[in-house]
Amino acid sequence: MFCPKCGNPDQTPESYCRQCGIFLPDLSKPVRTETPPETHFRANIVLSSMTIVACTTLSILLWTMLAFRPDTPTLIYVTAGLLFAMAIWHIQTLYRTLQLRKHFKKTKATRELGAAPDAETGRLLDEADMSNVVPASVTEYTTKHLSETKVRSS
Ligand SMILES: [Zn+2]
Repeated sequence: MFCPKCGNPDQTPESYCRQCGIFLPDLSKPVRTETPPETHFRANIVLSSMTIVACTTLSILLWTMLAFRPDTPTLIYVTAGLLFAMAIWHIQTLYRTLQLRKHFKKTKATRELGAAPDAETGRLLDEADMSNVVPASVTEYTTKHLSETKVRSS
């Protein structure tokens, strides 16, 4: 291939140009498509739920089977406590993900609904709010005035 910047021939794609040093991407490869954000919600919910179950189970097992014995090392209490805390953090993560998904669904629904034309008027957009509109004559005067000022100052 040729370098698109300097035109140097005999270049290898997915490397740097031997003359000018720009990166030469392989254009024959398909462009990676981005995954839609909705797909991440499901994965996040599953991962958070799994973490909650695993942390809670391990914590309960540690508390019931190893803790409260005369020879229990402090590390057992620390681990069991941290596992319990992790379960709580992930409950929050799960809650936030669910809230975010709800918000996302609502926004998407509103957007889809908003794109539909009004049943009464058949219009796609609401009536424009013209209460703060400055007349064209004023803006033209200001533009003219500013350009004259610029000329005078330079
Ligand atoms: Zn080049």
